[in-house]
Amino acid sequence: MRSDMGQFGAMEVFDMLSTHIARTVSFSRLTLASIVAAVLALAAGCTASTHAARPAAIGVASSAAAMEALIDRPGPVEVETVVGADWAVTRAGLINLDAPAAKAAHLTDGDEPIQIFVHVLRHPTRGTFLVDTGVTRQLVEDPSRAGVGWVVRKAMHVEKMRLGTDTAALLGREPPLAGVLLTHLHLDHVSGMRDVPRGTPIYSGPRETRDREFLYLFSRGTIDNQLEGQDDIQEWRFEADPSGRFAGVVDILGDGTIFAILVPGHTGGSTAYLVRTPKGPVLLTGDTCHTRWGWDHGVEPGLFSGDRPQNAISLSNLRALVARHPGIDVRLGHQR
Ligand SMILES: [Zn+2]
Repeated sequence: MRSDMGQFGAMEVFDMLSTHIARTVSFSRLTLASIVAAVLALAAGCTASTHAARPAAIGVASSAAAMEALIDRPGPVEVETVVGADWAVTRAGLINLDAPAAKAAHLTDGDEPIQIFVHVLRHPTRGTFLVDTGVTRQLVEDPSRAGVGWVVRKAMHVEKMRLGTDTAALLGREPPLAGVLLTHLHLDHVSGMRDVPRGTPIYSGPRETRDREFLYLFSRGTIDNQLEGQDDIQEWRFEADPSGRFAGVVDILGDGTIFAILVPGHTGGSTAYLVRTPKGPVLLTGDTCHTRWGWDHGVEPGLFSGDRPQNAISLSNLRALVARHPGIDVRLGHQR
């Protein structure tokens, strides 16, 4: 025997309910209900970008153990860190001022001088890669024409940026790029993308375009504008690290020279890179740690991180890696 509701299809039930609601609830309450629904939807967040993404065509799932067995041996890749711009942003964004160590040091909010970096990786046979993208000249000189929305321009205080080496000038003296390795998809890391030739392979951690935050409501158009015309973002295919030291490790070229390390927290797919150079290993932390003070004291970023407790775990994991391998040259997200 069918239940009473079973006599009707879903659409009929919906129609009956809507009619009933329309008869019994005043218009103002309905309006209020839709506003509440919209606010709840916004609170759930907006995705970081609508740009297309797919699994990376390169990269071999590795492990912390395999990576650490290799990294103290000199490697063939040269790393040059270039300052795209000098800038200043709120310290409360860069450092969790509520952390006990920050309170003990009496750190207060205010402008913190930082840099926007781009790292050039030169592999002897596989080509030249960028880690993040630096800054396009137009971002500093005419941000609206660089596709940066009004809210973002005001929030990031573009007027405090002083251009260093813009990405077009940098790429003008390099061979064609073999790829761009992103640490994450925030604007100050894709702000040189408009100078990257179309068709260059672009890689990031998993689900960076689908990362969700309320504030992405204001930045998504700007991020989409930076990526416009570029190839799909290829996402590293991390697998669980057997040792649990990291969320995942990928050997990018399969030759043990450049590793991607999944360090979620700042964003869901935040990725650090470990590069084997002739002078020893170089660790590019991305924004898992923005500042020298944060690294030295083991304090995670503040308001700029989506998941601070998770960011703190990832930072602790990177510091433990460096403690096991003191020869690592650590290059932080935004300070020397
Ligand atoms: Zn950043």
